[in-house]
Amino acid sequence: MADVTGPDPSVAAFAAAVATATPFLAGVRGLPTTAGPVELPRTLPEGPGPDVAAAVHHLARDLAPGIMPSPGPRYFGFVTGGTLPSALAAEVLVGAWDQNVALAAMSPALAEVESVTAEWVADLLGLPAGLSAGFVTGATMANWTALAAARHHLLTAAGWDLEADGMAGSPPITVVVGAERHSAIDLSLRYLGFGRSQLVVVPADDQGRMDAAALAHTMPTVAAPAIVCAQAGNVNSGSIDPMDTISDIARAAGAWLHVDAAVGAWLAASARLRPQLAGWERADSWALDAHKGLNTGYDSGIVLTAHPASHRAATQATAAYLPASADHRDGSAWTPEGSRRGRALGVYAVLRQLGRSGVADLVERQCDLAARFAEGLARIPGVTVANEVTANQVLVRFAGGDAVTHRVVALVQEGGVCWMGGTRWRDAACMRISVSNWMTTPADVDRAIDEVSRCWAEAHSR
Ligand SMILES: *Cc1c(COP(=O)(O)O)cnc(C)c1O
Repeated sequence: MADVTGPDPSVAAFAAAVATATPFLAGVRGLPTTAGPVELPRTLPEGPGPDVAAAVHHLARDLAPGIMPSPGPRYFGFVTGGTLPSALAAEVLVGAWDQNVALAAMSPALAEVESVTAEWVADLLGLPAGLSAGFVTGATMANWTALAAARHHLLTAAGWDLEADGMAGSPPITVVVGAERHSAIDLSLRYLGFGRSQLVVVPADDQGRMDAAALAHTMPTVAAPAIVCAQAGNVNSGSIDPMDTISDIARAAGAWLHVDAAVGAWLAASARLRPQLAGWERADSWALDAHKGLNTGYDSGIVLTAHPASHRAATQATAAYLPASADHRDGSAWTPEGSRRGRALGVYAVLRQLGRSGVADLVERQCDLAARFAEGLARIPGVTVANEVTANQVLVRFAGGDAVTHRVVALVQEGGVCWMGGTRWRDAACMRISVSNWMTTPADVDRAIDEVSRCWAEAHSR
């Protein structure tokens, strides 16, 4: 029997979690950007602990040294994004409400959230109305879902019943990709039965953009049916493929055009930045990542397609106990997943809180601060900005070669003032800076520039 006289244990655990998380959130702007290893007890408890609230505090205490303050304003690693206050609140509600968003029958509220969010995202980004949408874990699964829809669509048009007869013996599909595509494209294609050596690779220019002239040259030589995978937002440089020309070429060839827009999509929310993506609205499918520029929590990928029937055919399961609801949204039908959390709520909450202009300000600020980084760093003798900074990404090289650059990156990471990762770009080691957090201010960027300058001085004085 539950103890009806004491506090509800769920409420007590919830309060303990909030009490534990509050000082972290309140202090995250000042925490050193470092994390170390943690060691948890290795012995499985033999039975229940006495007090769930105490257990929450113990858990947080044990894990604290290994929690990277990546939600803070001077974490510039990877393309992590932060979590906006509205998105964080949504995460908490998703946990408390514990809705299964597989079927509308399980959560009418979250089904409606998914419907509205899908429409708002397309509207915000200048994409057509009437797209199909799936809310998936991240851009990897968004790419996978879009490419699964493409595969179904093209094979059906070729008279092949993929669901009945599988891939073996099916008409071949040519997949055309850019040389600077994200590894998630290769991974998604691999899951779908397309191997690396089967890809037609179009060269990229010095900013990592697909060379449209080379694509125009290639398309007439490849066998139909074909999928073209373009990219809006290179994960290193932030550069966006020339979407207008690529759309024309793909359309003329009768190919399915997919856009991996995990990094660049949110630029389209800004009237100032949207021209960089002009023409992307004519694609057949798009993969977005809300946890990046839009600053929702993980996991929050979104797939959109202009071919709802093919999308649904690729991912919908059927079973006797699954109701067929034509007039409601069954979220699972649009993803490879079954039971799912209400991850669209974070996106909905952000869009409802910020509105069109608020999202535009958010992404413009990220790009403006990246430009400030680039200007500040370029003024330091021996420091070279290695990319055209057109979005939120900055790549930096240090005089003296790869070893020196590695050393500067390591010193910055040890210093705890800010955190930047390393990468390789155009055959040289670079420091990679991603400005993707709503919390970051000009003062944070200036402080980070000073810290990079200090580490650079230390690295080359040795
Ligand atoms: C981040 C990213 C992905 C993968 O996204 P996940 O959310 O990690 O699955 C795919 N493509 C590009 C261009 C990305 O930047």
